[in-house]
Amino acid sequence: MATREGLFFDNSNSVLQRGLPCQGAIKPLTNNTDERVEFDVIIVGAGYAGLTACRDVCTAGEYWRGSRSAILINRAAGFSVLLLEARDRIGGRTFTTEVDGHLYEMGGTWVHWNQPHTYREMSRYGLTDLLPSHDRTFGLDSCTVHLNGKTRNVSHETAHAMTEKAFRLMCDVDGELGRSVIPYPHDPHFNPEAKYWEALSVAQRLDQIRTQISDDEAAILQARLSSIYGADMDKAGFFDMLRWWALGGYTMDGLYETGDDFKLPDGQSSFARHFFDETVGTQKLIYCFDTVVQSVHDNGRAVCVNDKWRAERLICTMPLNVLCDVKFEPGLSAQKLQAMKGGNINQGAKVHLEVSGSGHRSWSSAIYPVSRACSMSGDGLTPAGNTHLVCFGSNKEFTSPEDDARSFAADCKHVQEIDILKTIWHDWAKDPFAKGSWCMYPPDFSFKYLATLQERAGNVLFANSDWASGWRGYIDGAIERGTLAARDVATELRTSRCTAG
Ligand SMILES: Cc1cc2nc3c(=O)[nH]c(=O)nc-3n(C[C@H](O)[C@H](O)[C@H](O)COP(=O)(O)OP(=O)(O)OC[C@H]3O[C@@H](n4cnc5c(N)ncnc54)[C@H](O)[C@@H]3O)c2cc1C
Repeated sequence: MATREGLFFDNSNSVLQRGLPCQGAIKPLTNNTDERVEFDVIIVGAGYAGLTACRDVCTAGEYWRGSRSAILINRAAGFSVLLLEARDRIGGRTFTTEVDGHLYEMGGTWVHWNQPHTYREMSRYGLTDLLPSHDRTFGLDSCTVHLNGKTRNVSHETAHAMTEKAFRLMCDVDGELGRSVIPYPHDPHFNPEAKYWEALSVAQRLDQIRTQISDDEAAILQARLSSIYGADMDKAGFFDMLRWWALGGYTMDGLYETGDDFKLPDGQSSFARHFFDETVGTQKLIYCFDTVVQSVHDNGRAVCVNDKWRAERLICTMPLNVLCDVKFEPGLSAQKLQAMKGGNINQGAKVHLEVSGSGHRSWSSAIYPVSRACSMSGDGLTPAGNTHLVCFGSNKEFTSPEDDARSFAADCKHVQEIDILKTIWHDWAKDPFAKGSWCMYPPDFSFKYLATLQERAGNVLFANSDWASGWRGYIDGAIERGTLAARDVATELRTSRCTAG
């Protein structure tokens, strides 16, 4: 099975292929053979938020009031759901492709036992065996740092020490490593004094600590932060870094181990399949892929989508940067509309390279200032014995994907002699149903808009990782939001039916 998404550039003949094999591709695109239009719930989007919500609503026990008793009885029936998805596959901003027997994650990849919502699902589906991305046993075990125009090879220990010192200084905002500012990482606004830090950009915070770190330490930190934010430092809200730091146990190592180390051996698309297949098994799910939602009309009793499908509730799981492409009636609040303007600043690129030989499996790099690539590291060996490098960088305007691949390769070759065989990637910035990568907020955004983004509008609930309370911008945040929306909808429908009965 294949999705029309993703790009594969074969360096041996300069041929570009559009579309990639993907286990998450759905064929046929719909199971709505009866052209049904009435449902209990409509869910828009088949990323992790939508898949979680679908499964939980379809499996939610329905309750009713018996004729001789006021006691609620579980009929264990579940509600009918229509899932509408613009793509030809499940997974949203995650999808796995297999090229020549090797798996590449085009979007969300790394998971961890310290991500409570994700780990609960991994455990539920028996997927807790993880594959480490990093391996220090092959060939060149060093980090190439290209900082402020100078290139040199340093040990991983040296690169780590430089980054860790600067990272810690940046996040130690209170002499307690940030613990007093964000004492509960899943409740980021708990301490109102956090507002001061939330209003700062990363550039402003770096200015505050600049005299305490060397030029190289500042540069390597900014290389790392560029790959995290996918944006310039003056556009990047410092608070998101402080939150990630807190979520990682108030250490850089904890943050990187949680967000950058362990993969699912069978890939994200296989994980997403578990959610989808379980839901299909309930026989409560009708789905339509390749279906773009353009309008949502809520008349107070029911919601109508694209003037065609109707349901009592709608769970919208579209990402922040594309919400404004849908016409909502009645219109959304002024505050919500304001929040939808450019909330996710991350336009970063993730690119996979297959390079000749196993010599770079243990290698990594950091580049600053960033032109195209800002970090690279070994992420596995292909069956042919070549190295899989995963690279992060900035997205620039290119005339064609071929130019995009060439410019990325040129940046990588500039810092290291590598023979690139294949380039595999998806352009999330140009993707019309994402318009960005994992969510990172600008300064002065979270306190103003997070609660608004989480609010419902009448019968429409909003669930996406882009406004999660905990691991926002991660798969965990998507599952957090999908779970809560499904719980609210199932509770309301049970209650209304119970009253009606
Ligand atoms: C390059 C990259 C790397 C990442 N790395 C990691 C990582 O290592 N670990 C991690 O945990 N997270 C990572 N993330 C983040 C993670 O993938 C996302 O936060 C998460 O998958 C978002 O899930 P979601 O369901 O909230 O939103 P999405 O996955 O964006 O799902 C929303 C769905 O809505 C659909 N949609 C949009 N508009 C419409 C419309 N008009 N009509 C119908 N459907 C529509 C979309 O097609 C999509 O399927 C990464 C993301 C990217 C892009």
